[in-house]
Amino acid sequence: MSKSILPVKKTIALVAHDHKKDELMQWVKKHKLILSQHHLVATGTTGKMIQEEVGVEVKRVLSGPLGGDQQLGAMIAEGIIDAVIFFWDPMEAQPHDSDVKAFLRLCVVWNIVIASDASTADFVITSPHMYSEYEKEVTDYSSYLHRKIK
Ligand code: PGA
Repeated sequence: MSKSILPVKKTIALVAHDHKKDELMQWVKKHKLILSQHHLVATGTTGKMIQEEVGVEVKRVLSGPLGGDQQLGAMIAEGIIDAVIFFWDPMEAQPHDSDVKAFLRLCVVWNIVIASDASTADFVITSPHMYSEYEKEVTDYSSYLHRKIK
């Protein structure tokens, strides 16, 4: 395992599928104060709604189905994102299901905190680790990187 330090001010990614957007907006309103103390990044439509309906500043990437999930995935791999709140829809297939799967996979590869429903998100956002630095362990992938190919 190798170590990585999450800063006090974290970068939190927020995403909601269409049928879950209202639920996420309610959740963001409820935690507006604490969320505004962190850096927020969101997929295009989710971010627009957070800005307009809640009035919290959010950096926006592209809309999810247009590459936004992949942009967030790249930010995970680069170590930019510390936590993810992703209200994905368990009742409907998405045109970009493959992107969603890839994104969720990268969260596990890099040991990223991820909440997929409101109660888990409540636990995450009220954790003492949100108010301090947090030392997290990340799998050491060097044996994979140095694997024998031939
Ligand atoms: P959206 O994307 O916020 O642009 O609607 C969400 C998603 O990833 O499906």
